[in-house]
Amino acid sequence: MESSILKSKQIKNYINGAFIDSPSATINVLAPVDGSLLATVPMSGANELNNAVTSAKAAFESWSTTPIKERVQIFFRYKTLMEKNIKELAYLVHIENGKTIDEATAEVEKSIELTEFACSMPQLIQGRILEVSRGVECRIDHKPLGVVASIAPFNFPHMVPHWTIPNALVLGNCMILKPSEQVPISSNRIAEMLKEAGLPDGVLNIVNGDKEMVEAICDHPGIEAVSFVGSTTVAKIVYKRSCNSLKRCVALGGAKNHLIVMPDAHADMTASNVTASMSGCAGQRCMAASAMVAVGPVDHIIAKICDEARKIIPGQNLGAVISAQAKARIERYITEAEKAGAKVLVDGRNYKVEGKENGFYVGPTVIDFVTPDMAIAKEEVFGPVIAIMRAANVDEALAIENSSPYGNAASVFTQSGGVARYIMEKASAGMIGINIGVPVPREPFSFGGWNESKFGVGDITGESSIQFWTQMKKTSIKWNAEAKTNWMS
Ligand code: NAD
Repeated sequence: MESSILKSKQIKNYINGAFIDSPSATINVLAPVDGSLLATVPMSGANELNNAVTSAKAAFESWSTTPIKERVQIFFRYKTLMEKNIKELAYLVHIENGKTIDEATAEVEKSIELTEFACSMPQLIQGRILEVSRGVECRIDHKPLGVVASIAPFNFPHMVPHWTIPNALVLGNCMILKPSEQVPISSNRIAEMLKEAGLPDGVLNIVNGDKEMVEAICDHPGIEAVSFVGSTTVAKIVYKRSCNSLKRCVALGGAKNHLIVMPDAHADMTASNVTASMSGCAGQRCMAASAMVAVGPVDHIIAKICDEARKIIPGQNLGAVISAQAKARIERYITEAEKAGAKVLVDGRNYKVEGKENGFYVGPTVIDFVTPDMAIAKEEVFGPVIAIMRAANVDEALAIENSSPYGNAASVFTQSGGVARYIMEKASAGMIGINIGVPVPREPFSFGGWNESKFGVGDITGESSIQFWTQMKKTSIKWNAEAKTNWMS
């Protein structure tokens, strides 16, 4: 697959509408599917961030005063460009992240859906107006914040930037995007395409780097708001540091999602959903099933899950994990659980794909008789692994789910409406699935977890994003002298 962006083996920062060489040291970006070198990416710092903020500030005056119905036209054109180039975009996601082409295509389709939502913003953002006393009106308008930042993780190189870029920009902000240093390629193509769609220079800027750049973003006085998506450890750092410099911040963190499987669950549907949830995107989704709580006699369903897992073949319908380190970490969790007494029913360790021996593959893994005290039961594994724990009843299952510090998603598989409703009420998670393994709320519903899976008020997508990316201006208006005065007018 051809893509001009892959020809340059050097990722550049994108400032004021131009790709700029960076004087900073670089690190390598490897293709997870075969370990080959794709590009180098600069580890930029505060100076380059300053240039990006200066460019965004300069663009803000004109962009923020462009009527929203004009701003949105650029995103209509951009959506069409994504649709036209979906194969290339999916290939870039596949090559830098390691997920399959089908999964990468679905990721870009989700970016298109997010952009469609942003295109509906003029309808959603209309202000409110009310005659509060005779001849006196109050109105509310949503105004952009200024320069804002979006910091992204490695697992959705195209979609996560679209959680923030379309909404924040349509709402009149200018943005600094900091992609994951492990997958910086798709972001540069996003910038190219937005420029082609007519986005003015400076409205979107991209800076590359890691810890140093993220800290500089949190501290920069010219940035008004920070959106972060990544691990809980870093989400806590970013949330505290951004708030400390008086910015608004929403920081989405990691996850440990529980699927509760009841004995009355539809066996085939449950098995295929559980397996797809734990293995999709090689288990590197913050919505992936990672822990299954088997309630009572469900061995027949576990047997079917194993059958389904054996049909998943790395390099064919299962992608690679992001790095050699990630592969080693995932395999270590499995081995430690096995040593502690868990039973590995399907084993994905030490997997080699023929012809891609240097790729970072882990096969699907089903591991039973995990106990809640094991690391594999409590921590985010982020690989194609399902850890099965046993519970005698629903309340025992809920106690396991509730004890997790995370709270992104939880699902129940049952044919009983009463049980499903009970779990919906009692599970401590922001996104609940009833017979659905990956309960991502589609637009216009917003995405966001609870507990240590998200810090900050509101969610980052859907209508919640309006609150995050704007501030309300309240205007009281009186034109005629005969208007009835009240205590404040
Ligand atoms: P990560 O936390 O390692 O990195 C995320 C971003 O933070 C990257 O841009 C990285 O450069 C930066 N970063 C890394 N270490 C840092 C540090 N010490 N200080 C400051 N910045 C730092 O996350 P990742 O490995 O790229 O992504 C996987 C994680 O993201 C998983 O935990 C997954 O659950 C989570 N995630 C959560 C959601 C959600 O919606 N809750 C969505 C996608 C991914």
